Amino acid sequence: MSEFLVRARGLTRRYQTPKSRLFGPRAYTTGLEDADLDVRVGSAVGIIGESGSGKSTLVRLLLALDTPTEGKVEFDGRPVDASAPARSLHWLRRRTGIVFQDPYASLDPRMSVGRIVGEPLWALGIDGDRRARVREVLEDVGLEAGMANRFPHEFSGGQRQRIALARAIVHRPGLLVGDEPLSALDVTVRAQILELLAELRARDGLTMLLVSHDIGVVQSLCDEVVVMKDGRIVEEGPTEKVLLQPQVSYTRRLLASIPVIDPGTV
Ligand code: ADP
Ligand code: MG
Repeated sequence: MSEFLVRARGLTRRYQTPKSRLFGPRAYTTGLEDADLDVRVGSAVGIIGESGSGKSTLVRLLLALDTPTEGKVEFDGRPVDASAPARSLHWLRRRTGIVFQDPYASLDPRMSVGRIVGEPLWALGIDGDRRARVREVLEDVGLEAGMANRFPHEFSGGQRQRIALARAIVHRPGLLVGDEPLSALDVTVRAQILELLAELRARDGLTMLLVSHDIGVVQSLCDEVVVMKDGRIVEEGPTEKVLLQPQVSYTRRLLASIPVIDPGTV
């Protein structure tokens, strides 16, 4: 096993704008430009940056949910080919899980919670007692096993995000990616889910990649931080260092614009 779970080199994604189909290939939006990233096995890396800076584009490319215009990604030393047929990416799907921001949009309302959570086990052909595993993972995220028979609309936003998290880890991935997984939740629920992420990390040794607006979240959970601006990684390093001694003015402005809640003062 490689020291790095994920390595990206020169990762670039340009989106063609509708106009470019008429006026030639030069009109495009840059989602990500020439990004290099190393994620150490067992580490938790936070990704911060203002809206539109390329955070979601980066994580989608790392998970082969999108195909880079240029550059490459390796997962545990193995090249990731996002343009390959879905079946040949099963190995990557088995080793990764993702939670998105919106716990309302991300769960299929017609499916029972048990089916939603267990779906990766069936889709990825993971053997064993799948129903038992679903019950187990529901308990791991602080829900009751009996909730498997219910439907998403019966749950609050925080509970739905627990369901989404259960689905993301049911197949025991090595890497959990969260794209603003806490942003839609109110403060109390956010703290509970944050604690849950920290527990899962400590217990299962999950490697984490966490996109967040909330510096407090990054500070409490992440060892390393990547700062993004206009599709580029402009600063990265150990969390303490980046948050306390930012080297670039953009990071300083970004940190100043985000209210940091000191738990000691509330
Ligand atoms: P963030 O997650 O940091 O808010 P994104 O990665 O979503 O940023 O977006 C980075 C840039 O790429 C933005 O300018 C955005 O408008 C553009 N972009 C993202 N997705 C698409 C898409 N599917 N089509 C066209 N442009 C996109
Ligand atoms: Mg985003």
